[in-house]
Amino acid sequence: MFDARFLVVGQGLAGTVLVDALLERGQSVHIADQHMVGAASKAAAGLWNPLTARTLQESWRFSTFMPLALQYYQKKCAERKIDPPRPLPLLKALPNQHSLDHWNRIADTAGSSCEKSNGPPPSEYEDQLHIGPYCGWVKGAGQLNVAAFIEAARHDFIELGILQESFFQIKSVEWMPQSGVMPQGGFKWNNNTYEYLLMARGHQERFDPIFGWLPFNPAQGELLEATSTDRQIPFIVHASGFLLPLGAHRYLLGSTYEWDELSPTPTEKGLRELMRIKEGITPMKLQIDAQLSGIRPTVADRRPLIGAHPAQQNLYIFNGLGTKGVSMAPAMAQMLVDHLLKGCNLLPEIDIQRFLGRYRRSIHQA
Ligand SMILES: Cc1cc2nc3c(=O)[nH]c(=O)nc-3n(C[C@H](O)[C@H](O)[C@H](O)COP(=O)(O)OP(=O)(O)OC[C@H]3O[C@@H](n4cnc5c(N)ncnc54)[C@H](O)[C@@H]3O)c2cc1C
Repeated sequence: MFDARFLVVGQGLAGTVLVDALLERGQSVHIADQHMVGAASKAAAGLWNPLTARTLQESWRFSTFMPLALQYYQKKCAERKIDPPRPLPLLKALPNQHSLDHWNRIADTAGSSCEKSNGPPPSEYEDQLHIGPYCGWVKGAGQLNVAAFIEAARHDFIELGILQESFFQIKSVEWMPQSGVMPQGGFKWNNNTYEYLLMARGHQERFDPIFGWLPFNPAQGELLEATSTDRQIPFIVHASGFLLPLGAHRYLLGSTYEWDELSPTPTEKGLRELMRIKEGITPMKLQIDAQLSGIRPTVADRRPLIGAHPAQQNLYIFNGLGTKGVSMAPAMAQMLVDHLLKGCNLLPEIDIQRFLGRYRRSIHQA
């Protein structure tokens, strides 16, 4: 009766992974996406790192989410004939002996994700690095080429005839009342009918009142694609930013965090910050090939924003992947799909029900 059961708005990393999860379960899906400047996924470095930079503790539920993510990316990259995710060793530079002592303490307890410090980086790379004697190796890190991943999915979705390149506005949705003829409700959009509307618009979501009451706290990020003629460093170096090897003497250098002046395009200020990050990592001469910028859909409490709109039936959000889209997206998509198809509960930490008070206040003030 519906043209498709689900309409997913946005085909960044969130929308892509969600659509794959729905198709995998035999669901009918359409996607609306407009190539928008400043989308996070097009600028993402694609790094996964088991440790949080601030505390050096394992990231929230990393050891549950990442195996699922790797399995999904490996399968989809093989099907779509693109390079698979690449596990890479990560050398973490620490500022002083105190941090190294802390590192060694948690290395004993964190088990799977960090190894004890092995002292300085391998001697053959010493002259290419500005890293002092305090450092440790992290296992379980790696990189996915996110831009290539979503581009390959986009081709797939276009071939399947399920992706429309169009700008979505909530005001062009006509909700259908639940009635005897239409017990499950649903809506019309662009001459088609759907049962569920799933919003995956990244940071753009904050501009629309429908979910704009949620505590988005977006952060612009910039990074550089660069080339060096020096010997290729084969591991990720993480200090106040990171240097990530891409092979063939190419690197990604990033990332900046800008919370106040959010520009969807690269800035001079960003470039200065990236140069500062570079100086802290390497004396190598880097030729800049590109400067990229995107706006991360980060959230005040650093947890995803997933679940049902408090008032509008059949309307859901899939957002808030923040700085950890690569490791979290596949597990989050599974949870939302299990919720939609089987009625399973969402984790309370990700369910937007936790912000019901904000929603009520926003209604009250309107
Ligand atoms: C510089 C930088 C580096 C990063 N590095 C990493 C990293 O190393 N590891 C990691 O895990 N994460 C990283 N991230 C974060 C990661 O990019 C995000 O978590 C993830 O990409 C968010 O995906 P998304 O689909 O929610 O949002 P987006 O990628 O922003 O996608 C939203 C999509 O919705 C579409 N859209 C929006 N509004 C509309 C509309 N009205 N109509 C139609 N379409 C619309 C946009 O065109 C876009 O395609 C980084 C981000 C940045 C900016």
